[in-house]
Amino acid sequence: MALINFDDYLDTLESDLGHQADILLLTCMDFRFFSKISEKMKGKKYDHVILAGAALGVVGGKKQWHDTFFDHLDLAIKLHSVNRVIVMEHRECGAYGPPPGFGLLPKEPERDEERRVHCEQVETLRNRMPLMFSGLQAFLLEVPETTQECTFDQLI
Ligand SMILES: [Zn+2]
Repeated sequence: MALINFDDYLDTLESDLGHQADILLLTCMDFRFFSKISEKMKGKKYDHVILAGAALGVVGGKKQWHDTFFDHLDLAIKLHSVNRVIVMEHRECGAYGPPPGFGLLPKEPERDEERRVHCEQVETLRNRMPLMFSGLQAFLLEVPETTQECTFDQLI
């Protein structure tokens, strides 16, 4: 695990006040994380693409989802000069689980295995990014029952 302070991470990103979005954010569709993510990203300019499974949604074998993501990325680069992709994966993701998910993990996976499989998908996505585009970072989110405070485990 590489838990980071996500607020500190965001502070390291330069923000342009012009008509630029800086970031394309890719997240899962899971409703449990939206308010926490938008709270964290408050004040940042970003375009947002939502696909079940986040990185897995792009590289998991659904051609339309794959093409949709890269079409959006291309447009975001042209319209808003996006120069960074932030991927937010999350633990207990139904898309990674058994059908109707993609079936990459069992219903209650072992934590290290869960993290490893998320890393694999994120690496696959990074390898498919346009050559000139190097700014991709990914995090595995979790909301522990004890604190209800979203944690960010940096995957790459
Ligand atoms: Zn999910």
